[in-house]
Amino acid sequence: MVSVSSLEHCLHQVADPEVPALSVMDLGIVRSVRLEDGVCQVDLSPTYTGCPATERIERDVREALEALVGAGNVRIRTVLDPPWTTDWISDEGLRKLEAYGIAPPPRRTSDKRSLLSIHKPLACPRCRSTHTERISAFGSTACKALHRCLDCLEPFEAFKCI
Ligand SMILES: [Zn+2]
Repeated sequence: MVSVSSLEHCLHQVADPEVPALSVMDLGIVRSVRLEDGVCQVDLSPTYTGCPATERIERDVREALEALVGAGNVRIRTVLDPPWTTDWISDEGLRKLEAYGIAPPPRRTSDKRSLLSIHKPLACPRCRSTHTERISAFGSTACKALHRCLDCLEPFEAFKCI
């Protein structure tokens, strides 16, 4: 018998195609998982509008869940409201990002002061120096920007805060 927790457990193994260190659960784009009469209903939120990964994520989620509930028994609904922001990324997800060498986005809603610090230099994920500069608004994907640490001279990517 498949349970909602086994479905959620399964979704923890579905990686974000652009940041494989993060699962779709870490990313916070899975809004709800329900199970009704053997049919799995998932509410998914797209991350960045027009992010090319969105379709791939939906396909990966469907394939992973179909392995448990059977082909044709997964319904995916796209939820646009409330919109996804980087604040939906779990604390575990932020830690994984940093461990992966990507500067995590600053929390916005939990700390009003961070509204003022958005344009402050980010901390280098390697040496923690805040002596960093942004090189390019776009990294390897549109949702990341490219920064460089002026102390260890390593370039690093930062997840854009939206
Ligand atoms: Zn550094």
